[in-house]
Amino acid sequence: MTFSLSDTLLDWYDANARALPWRVGPAQRRVGERPDPYRVWLSEIMLQQTTVATVTAYFERFTARWPDVGALAAAPRDDVLSEWAGLGYYARARNLHACAQMVVAEYGGAFPATEGELRALPGVGLYTAAAIASIAFDEAATVVDGNVERVVARLHAVTEPLPGAKKRLYALAAALTPDARPGDYAQAVMDLGATVCTPRKPACAACPLADPCEARALGIAATLPAKTPKKKKPTRFGTCYLARRADGAVLLGRRPDAGLLGGMAELPGTTWAEDAPPPAPPLGADWRVMGEVRHTFTHFHLVLSVMRADVPLGTVPDRGEWTCVDRLDDAALPTLMRKALDCGLGPGRLL
Ligand code: SF4
Repeated sequence: MTFSLSDTLLDWYDANARALPWRVGPAQRRVGERPDPYRVWLSEIMLQQTTVATVTAYFERFTARWPDVGALAAAPRDDVLSEWAGLGYYARARNLHACAQMVVAEYGGAFPATEGELRALPGVGLYTAAAIASIAFDEAATVVDGNVERVVARLHAVTEPLPGAKKRLYALAAALTPDARPGDYAQAVMDLGATVCTPRKPACAACPLADPCEARALGIAATLPAKTPKKKKPTRFGTCYLARRADGAVLLGRRPDAGLLGGMAELPGTTWAEDAPPPAPPLGADWRVMGEVRHTFTHFHLVLSVMRADVPLGTVPDRGEWTCVDRLDDAALPTLMRKALDCGLGPGRLL
């Protein structure tokens, strides 16, 4: 069954592969074109927790500005963080830059070709290493992301809930991975999961794997993979301070490298906690409340109050640096902080 299943899926992929800016499609592969490991790696990092639609514009901007790993490694880290701003999960951007520098320093600018070596690079976990090894180097690595877990759980009618079922799904996915065209096979499963075997309404009538699919036969496809209910996310509260100098400059701080939004620019503020933390303005002034912004992180919701003070030239803050308003677009401001600036300055000023 294994070989016929992967052959069936590869035939489907040959006819239905999505055209993606980082992909070398099956027709190009047939005439000998090889994927560029830099583009495969960059796209896989960007696609973690992020949709294809969102990633496409970022990918095109990154590759236009830094066409190879050497160019990215040589870029100032702030430029990379700034280009990444809005894409979220900012540890990815810091690791991206560190990884590019390691590939240049330790591998002479050529990505290592095996899953094991790739795993040792910053920001490259089990899934990403397998995806790069498979797609860029045709290693028969087992590539398992959320799409693959869903397809495999359904094909084998695995009703054990995630995350407990992860090991079993990985083993089942490994058993399905062929030695021939493993890179195309990995992309075929991803495409099937993204376009046919979708989370809520799998299009079983259009699926090349409908015959062997056990969940379809049992009528339970849409209920799989089962998931252990998540704990309710707590809400944290905080305050940020928009200090506006008479020449229009805005006071910005930088978040510590470790932790949420690490290394990104911010409006100086309090810590974030479930019991509202004490005020921590970056300078003494007549602060007034402008509103609040809400943002959801992986583990909590945040309600961030925005205070504003207009201060004269020559004001010296306790922390942070004055930044010209026309340079704010170049600052590595995450979406949360852009929302806070918008709240403090008035809608449409920056976003
Ligand atoms: S038959 Fe339906 S549930 Fe099974 S793999 Fe195809 S789309 Fe998914």
